[in-house]
Amino acid sequence: RAKTVGRNCNVLFTPDMQQVLTRRRRLETRIWEALHAQEFILFFQPILSARTKQLEGFEALIRLPDGFGEMISPGEFIPIAEEIGAISRIGDWVIRSACRFAATWPEHLTVSVNLSAAQFGRNFEADQGLVDVVLQALKDSGLDPHRLELEITESLVMERTDVVLSELKALRDLGVSIAMDDFGTGYSNLSSLWQLPFTKLKIDQSFAKSWRENAATVHPILDTIASLSRSLGVNLTAEGVETQEEDDLFTGLGCDQLQGYLFGRPLPPADMAAFLISHRTPSLEATTFEDWSSG
Ligand code: C2E
Ligand code: MG
Ligand code: MG
Ligand code: MG
Repeated sequence: RAKTVGRNCNVLFTPDMQQVLTRRRRLETRIWEALHAQEFILFFQPILSARTKQLEGFEALIRLPDGFGEMISPGEFIPIAEEIGAISRIGDWVIRSACRFAATWPEHLTVSVNLSAAQFGRNFEADQGLVDVVLQALKDSGLDPHRLELEITESLVMERTDVVLSELKALRDLGVSIAMDDFGTGYSNLSSLWQLPFTKLKIDQSFAKSWRENAATVHPILDTIASLSRSLGVNLTAEGVETQEEDDLFTGLGCDQLQGYLFGRPLPPADMAAFLISHRTPSLEATTFEDWSSG
């Protein structure tokens, strides 16, 4: 009997699946390896004011070097890191590194960090809780809490609302901002979603894409999201802005901030200095000038 099962397995176990499993196992090993050797890298994508097109901050986006000169995207390795229980430690590293980087930028710029569900509810003895990790990262880097934004998703919140809620409140009390990322892709209960203390909505990039394909259907939905965010008093950011038409659309809808390839792809750390120099804001220069001329 066992033999029959074995044979069936062999029949079902195609070379394709073998490849998938091998890659998966290699990725798991690579994740632990990179964690111990501190080989993860943060890229930073610019976030601009919709109205003035001035640089206002960056989103930290993690990359995993595969060891052969290529980067593995978080879309591929984050779900695996979550499954194998590595995401909390990776996430703690992201928070600390992002704060350390941001502390070297001009002071008006913010940094946004993506969180995973497993980073919440860790307040038991063996483990430092999320709030402590953030507090420590702010202290060590000297970054003003108002310059740190943490991004959560609808699904993250809906899994464990109570734990997440109390930690989010504690983070807000520190002065940290909270953004609801990928908004419009989950199927959450809107009225319970709005009990959460977030300060910004990020419209998922799929909306920009579907608007390109079917503006007549998608425009009223975007308009509704915009007025919803206005009446609830939260900021609104559009993600995945790739064309001038999308810039016009989202700016016209009243979005506060824009993010997307039109304004910049995620930058490797080595390119940050040059980018910051080329994006010195006129308002900064004006302030400096006024200070100088009045003093
Ligand atoms: P996200 O937080 O929604 O980040 C935006 C993603 O859209 C990024 O992909 C970014 O490179 C991409 N993007 C930005 N502008 C455009 C555009 O104009 N067009 C298109 N097509 N794409 C654009 P990335 O870097 O591959 O990250 C994917 C996701 O992985 C992120 O989505 C986030 O959910 C997750 N992630 C990234 N870094 C971290 C991290 O440090 N921790 C955790 N837990 N998740 C992370
Ligand atoms: Mg994000
Ligand atoms: Mg997003
Ligand atoms: Mg996303």
